[in-house]
Amino acid sequence: MDTPREREIAAEDSIKVVCRFRPLNDSEERAGSKFIVKFPAGGDENCISIGGKVYLFDKVFKPNATQDKVYNEAAKSIVTDVLAGYNGTIFAYGQTSSGKTHTMEGVIGDANKQGIIPRIVNDIFNHIYGMEENLEFHIKVSYFEIYMDKIRDLLDVSKVNLSVHEDKNRVPFVKGATERFVSSPEEVFEVIEEGKSNRHIAVTNMNEHSSRSHSVFLINVKQENLENQKKLSGKLYLVDLAGSEKVSKTGAEGTVLDEAKNINKSLSALGNVISALADGNKTHIPYRDSKLTRILQESLGGNARTTIIICCSPASFNESETKSTLDFGKRAKTIKNVVCVNEELTAEEWKRRYEREKEKAARLKGKVEKLESELSRWRQGETVKPEEQVSLVEGPDITTSVIVPVEVKEEGPMPAIPGGGLMAGSLSNEERQKLEEERERLYQQLDEKDEEINQQSQYLEKLKEQMDEQEDLIASARRDYEQLQQEMSTINQETESAKEEVKEVLQALEELAVNYDQKSQEVEIKNKEHEALTEELLTKQTALNSTMSELQQLRDMSTHQRKRTAEMLTNLLKDLGEIGVAIGGDESLKCQITPDINGKLEEEFTVARLYISKMKSEVKNMVQRCQGLETFQADCNKKMSEYEKELGECRLLISQHEARMQTLSESMKEAEARKRALEENVDAMREECAKLKAAEQVQAVSNKEKAEEKEAATKMRVALEEQMDQLRDAHQRQVAALRDEISEKQEVINELKDLNQKFTLAHQQMQADYERLKHEEAEKSVKLQELILMNDRREQARKDLKGLEDTVAKELQTLHNLRKLFVQDLQVRIKKSVNAEDNEDDGGSLAQKQKISFLENNLDQLTKVHKQLVRDNADLRCELPKLEKRLRACMERVKALETALRDAKEGAMRDRKRYQFEVDRIKEAVRQKNLARRGPSAQIAKPIRAGQHHVSGVNAIRTGNRDMDCHVPRS
Ligand code: ADP
Ligand code: MG
Repeated sequence: MDTPREREIAAEDSIKVVCRFRPLNDSEERAGSKFIVKFPAGGDENCISIGGKVYLFDKVFKPNATQDKVYNEAAKSIVTDVLAGYNGTIFAYGQTSSGKTHTMEGVIGDANKQGIIPRIVNDIFNHIYGMEENLEFHIKVSYFEIYMDKIRDLLDVSKVNLSVHEDKNRVPFVKGATERFVSSPEEVFEVIEEGKSNRHIAVTNMNEHSSRSHSVFLINVKQENLENQKKLSGKLYLVDLAGSEKVSKTGAEGTVLDEAKNINKSLSALGNVISALADGNKTHIPYRDSKLTRILQESLGGNARTTIIICCSPASFNESETKSTLDFGKRAKTIKNVVCVNEELTAEEWKRRYEREKEKAARLKGKVEKLESELSRWRQGETVKPEEQVSLVEGPDITTSVIVPVEVKEEGPMPAIPGGGLMAGSLSNEERQKLEEERERLYQQLDEKDEEINQQSQYLEKLKEQMDEQEDLIASARRDYEQLQQEMSTINQETESAKEEVKEVLQALEELAVNYDQKSQEVEIKNKEHEALTEELLTKQTALNSTMSELQQLRDMSTHQRKRTAEMLTNLLKDLGEIGVAIGGDESLKCQITPDINGKLEEEFTVARLYISKMKSEVKNMVQRCQGLETFQADCNKKMSEYEKELGECRLLISQHEARMQTLSESMKEAEARKRALEENVDAMREECAKLKAAEQVQAVSNKEKAEEKEAATKMRVALEEQMDQLRDAHQRQVAALRDEISEKQEVINELKDLNQKFTLAHQQMQADYERLKHEEAEKSVKLQELILMNDRREQARKDLKGLEDTVAKELQTLHNLRKLFVQDLQVRIKKSVNAEDNEDDGGSLAQKQKISFLENNLDQLTKVHKQLVRDNADLRCELPKLEKRLRACMERVKALETALRDAKEGAMRDRKRYQFEVDRIKEAVRQKNLARRGPSAQIAKPIRAGQHHVSGVNAIRTGNRDMDCHVPRS
């Protein structure tokens, strides 16, 4: 593990102490505290006076000093040191709220308010970016805190009590602390954030905790020159110490005294170490008194450039604390460190050094020989002249010592320096050797124990976690148990009540069974009665039937008699009527009598007699009238024959007249025809006349001149006349034919009219038929509808009936079963009672009666309850649809909400993705920028380690194992 290493003394370097005063804070101003510090005017700014006492430091920062100024003047130089292979330490000391954290950390990410740590980190990387190309860097960081002298890893919460070990060069380091390889400032800040959040998680009161714990941020920078394999390494401790005040002042309420002591233990150890270092005479430096001092061992009097920042409050209220803080700084200022570069040498260099040392040894050997010879001369009593004396003042050869820094670090009671001459006298060299070995062994044991403690405490932590889990489990199990118990009790109660109910129901059933038996008995009795009655009824019915048949016979007989009498009467009356008719008597008489044939016969009879006597007299009258009428008839007959003769004559006359009419009409027709002919003639004459007149006029004009022409004209006239005649004939014939045609057409028209009439009549009839049929059809369909309805109703009724039958059958079945059960039960009871009958006789029946009455009451109540339940049920049924509706609405609402929620979630997811993307992009951009800024320069390698996920693509992955092997000292 350990690499050969040599320490070259570069310089003796005293610790740098700077002092920073913060402004008065609000509460101090409110409390009226005064500003008690004076900063003397002058260019140096390295002294202050307080209460007349003057303190000198390397630098003093006034309250208005900016973070930038503090960094530049107090810390900046460390960066180059660390990159040149030196160790460095910056720690802030001061009371709580004096500005330590403000100075060390400030507000990370705020360009003005960020403190030393972020500025250093940025600076380191910027330096690296600007360095040679052939340099490769490995940067790793650790972050831990020390509380109550326990080292807690802030990057791995399971490591709660880490131990401090020494490497082969006896440089202490925190063993097992998590180391993170980083390749950019951002990664460092991420680590810091992670550590801080872990700290917050583990702690309940952060303010109190941070004021009592030290937080240590370690940056380890290793570099290798790829050309000559030269390796350098520098460690930089950045420490924010706990508040330096007395614990009582901050009011560590509730803390036990022991704890209070423990809290300040490491700080007081720091004070002691500084005092011991300041007091140059002290040989033992108590680094081992606390973890803090062990970690800072190299920084205090060892191989490191150390800067202490003393933070103070300027308020009068804090005067004493401020003073003690300033005293601490003053003391620390006197400490001298011996600083050298941590360099790994190559084989060639080792060779050279070996040669050098060999030479040196030879030289020294010669010198020793010379001295020895001189000594022997002195001892022999010779006096050696000063010229011959060997010179003791020698150059760098002798004073240069590899041991020097080691000697400063040496501790323990052993006088390990040449100054311890007194002790040398009392202890022999061998003893001293032994003791030293012993001490070494013991220290080793101590370290081992420490490691063991660490492991144990880790184990303890794990167990604690497990215990917490188990406790949680137990608590949940207990809760479950209690819940189950409650459920059990409720279930028990329910079963109790159910049992009672069952009992009651059983009782009710018993009662019902008894009732049922009674009723069935009654029913049987009634049935018997009913049977007897039906028998009786049957006999009565038969008797009634026989009497009825008798009655029928009698009735038949009487109707027969009545018929016969009626017949006789009608016969008689008929006779009478015939008589009346024969006599020609009154028709109304007959009519009056006939309807009353079956009426009151005897009365009618008398009335008939009366009529008969009347009729006799009438008949006599009739006979007389007949005689008169006969004579009148003879007269009439005579007259009739006369009239007949007259009628014959009239007929003859009529036929004559008719014949004459015929001849007349014929003659009329002839006349007509003649008239038409005449008219035609007249027309022809008129035309001739007109022609003649025209001819006369023509003649009159040319009579004298042209006689010859007259003859020709007459000739022409004759021809014309002939022509005219022919034309007239044709015309007349045409007219006659047309008339005949007209009359024919008229006849045809008449016929057609008749036909038309017939057709319209038929049509009307058919229309009427059609209407009737339609009407009938409508009626039929109405009837059909009614029938269908009736059928449906009948079907429904049938179904209902069936259901009813089923339920009734079921009820009967259950009743039957119940009865059976009851009968069995009764039998059992009877058996029992037979056994117990001897003991209680009368008391039993009384008890039974009471029981029965009780059961009856119960039954009544039960029926009431049942009715109530039925009503309730009906009410609930009414409610049901409403509730269902509401439920549906609710469901819909829920669905809507669900979809809305889903949408919102999706939106959130999208937003997150976008955000992530944006962040990644920005990161990448920053990285690119860094890369661009670096240009061709030094590289930062980031080896893959277990537990480290991200590997920057920018950085070349170099041999991480080698790196760890070389630089992480492990014992
Ligand atoms: P400590 O870490 O010593 O307990 P803090 O650094 O937390 O003290 O400082 C306490 C308060 O004082 C913080 O609010 C801090 O911002 C403020 N403070 C400290 N130093 C300064 C300063 N130099 N200028 C302005 N404010 C300061
Ligand atoms: Mg603080």
